[in-house]
Amino acid sequence: MKKIAVAALVLAPVAVFAGLYGDTPNEKHAWSVHDRNRPKPSRVTVNEKGVPSDAIVLFDGTKASFEKNWSNGKGDPAKWIVNEEEGSFSCGTGFKFGECATREEFGDCQLHIEYKHPADIQTIHNDAQMRGNSGIFLMGPRFGYEVQVLESYYTCKELEGQPEFIQNYADGQAGSVYAENPPLVNPQRKPGEWQVYDIVFHQPVWKGETLVHPGSVTVFFNGVLVQDHWEMEGQTTHCRRRPLKPHPTKGPLSLQDHGCPVSFRNIWLRPLASRWDNLTHSDLTACPQKVMECRRETAAALYAKIADPKAVTADNIKALAEVISYANEGKYAASFWQALEAYRAKPGDEKEVASVNRDLDVLVRNNVIPADAKLK
Ligand code: MG
Repeated sequence: MKKIAVAALVLAPVAVFAGLYGDTPNEKHAWSVHDRNRPKPSRVTVNEKGVPSDAIVLFDGTKASFEKNWSNGKGDPAKWIVNEEEGSFSCGTGFKFGECATREEFGDCQLHIEYKHPADIQTIHNDAQMRGNSGIFLMGPRFGYEVQVLESYYTCKELEGQPEFIQNYADGQAGSVYAENPPLVNPQRKPGEWQVYDIVFHQPVWKGETLVHPGSVTVFFNGVLVQDHWEMEGQTTHCRRRPLKPHPTKGPLSLQDHGCPVSFRNIWLRPLASRWDNLTHSDLTACPQKVMECRRETAAALYAKIADPKAVTADNIKALAEVISYANEGKYAASFWQALEAYRAKPGDEKEVASVNRDLDVLVRNNVIPADAKLK
């Protein structure tokens, strides 16, 4: 084995552009720009109904699906009425149906849900908040965040002063984050037509009692953006501003019984990684400590792999060069040289060898490795 001081492999102060192809990782980014070691996304396909292959189908239109996935929030059967012919389930009047909540609990998610108000909808008690009111409580009614469901087709600026206009407060109409933020626009269809919400939800992130990020909700309403990455101000309540507070990281998806007839169908959800844990997308909120851990794990896994001489391929040495550009720890010096010496070029591999050496040359120029680190 080549005799070399371990210190010679330790990352020296180098040029700003120290990576092989782009900027190197930093305390907010686990990966170099164009890093070949960055995990590749898994494949997801979408079926003819538009449901992604990695989604959890929470309601497929059948009674069996309803009973399996939904309860009254306490584990007992929900009282809402399933209509298999229409492929829907419904709440009615009188506040006697109660909560309808998923048996499974979720945190950050992408949610698809469709709802409909009766074509002959009546405003109950002459109160616009009693016109098709329900709600989608992300993480449940106790801690959660409500995206409002309401019949709001006639609540729009253009109809103000007209006889059909229905007065309502903007931060409580359909597509609002209830009591916080009105929808950007009103794309609601007429009562009797199905409405579609596609929601991306990230819960607030806490470190103990300290709020790290307030979380966010993005809502597409019938395909139109109405909540643009809204950062939550508090947990939903009526009339008050209730501040954010730490809560369990999972809760049910819950539908509100607000004493109004509303039907739901075609509900699916994709759990998402917390932005705090998502190290493959370099979010600005990434936890520096986790990023560093992730980087060290990447390096360790690669060094473990090339300990087997059969794994010492040109591809793996190029991956190693990438790792060394940002995780050049002295403890791996011997492994690095072993890998270079274990490489056995076969006739016809000249281009491959030249390509690896070009990468190694970048590291030499940046004083990361000594000049004689080359494949023969
Ligand atoms: Mg509501």
